[in-house]
Amino acid sequence: MVLTTPQQRQDGEELGIRLGSCFVGAFHGATMHTPEEVTERALSVVRDRRADCIVSLGGGSTIGLGKAIALRTGLDQLCIPTTYAGSEMTAILGETRRGIKTTVRDRAVLPETVIYDVNLTASLPPGLTASSGMNAMAHAVEALYARDRNPVVSLMAAEGIRVLVAALPVLVAEPDNLSARSDALYGAWLCGSCLGAVGMALHHKICHVLGGAFNLPHAETHAIVLPHVIAYNAPAIPDAIERLAKAIGASDPPRRFFDLAQQLGLSAALKDVGMPEAGIEPAADLVMQSSYWNPAPVERDAIRDVLARAWNGDPPQ
Ligand code: NAD
Repeated sequence: MVLTTPQQRQDGEELGIRLGSCFVGAFHGATMHTPEEVTERALSVVRDRRADCIVSLGGGSTIGLGKAIALRTGLDQLCIPTTYAGSEMTAILGETRRGIKTTVRDRAVLPETVIYDVNLTASLPPGLTASSGMNAMAHAVEALYARDRNPVVSLMAAEGIRVLVAALPVLVAEPDNLSARSDALYGAWLCGSCLGAVGMALHHKICHVLGGAFNLPHAETHAIVLPHVIAYNAPAIPDAIERLAKAIGASDPPRRFFDLAQQLGLSAALKDVGMPEAGIEPAADLVMQSSYWNPAPVERDAIRDVLARAWNGDPPQ
């Protein structure tokens, strides 16, 4: 059974035709944050058509739906990613039940097969290319200072960041440059593999809180928050900062990521992507609740300042 979002329905229908007699049906209702009611609707199609394999064609939202189905049915998943989010390489599923986003880590949701086809990424609009690429790099940045990092993951993280920092500006100017697209997809695979291999820290916690509490767009939120969290953690992670600086060819990584996002045409401010100013204080409280491990101490007032700067679009400090 083929899964897509409504926006990628036509691609899903074409894939169904190519699958010939293997194709038993499609569900084109995947949406952000994997709401349980959407999963239930998709599951009824799975049962109705007696599907024996899920083919997820799309970004993290579609792959998330495939994972939610796999968790409940044990079906195999074949993923064909068309963004740089990296979910296809992880055993992580974030889903929303009664308005609350929860994260499940389970081998049962790790896709069995992934096919990367660069041609399918050529249609990604510049804005989504940029934000999705920044989202990918956020996985690798946090992998560089993860508590359970290891030398191989650090190499993959640095390489993923290096290729994405070079490819993204090219792609925003020339979206159908297939050589840069290929580099970006390679970088996204590396970054997604890092996300699947080691634990994430403060950056992912903040983005999780903001996405859940204010329904902010996933990738754009990552792009805005990332420079601020690198600056926050910097004093505690000199080795990671040195690796980052080398990978991106800049001495001040937080500033470089801040400038890059703007060079790519992304907004620097959470207020521009739908966060209310009144949300800063409650968000700081939520970040403090069941906080993830982080290399620097997570202090409420300092987190509030980070959120206020990100809300306003100020440079990282
Ligand atoms: P998305 O999947 O929501 O896609 C955004 C939009 O872009 C959709 O309308 C989609 O149809 C469209 N789109 C995708 N590829 C396209 C293409 N090539 N051309 C044109 N349009 C295209 O966005 P995303 O950023 O990939 O995924 C975000 C979701 O993934 C979030 O819910 C996030 O929590 C989840 N995620 C999960 C993990 C994990 O490991 N569990 C990792 C990363 C992201």
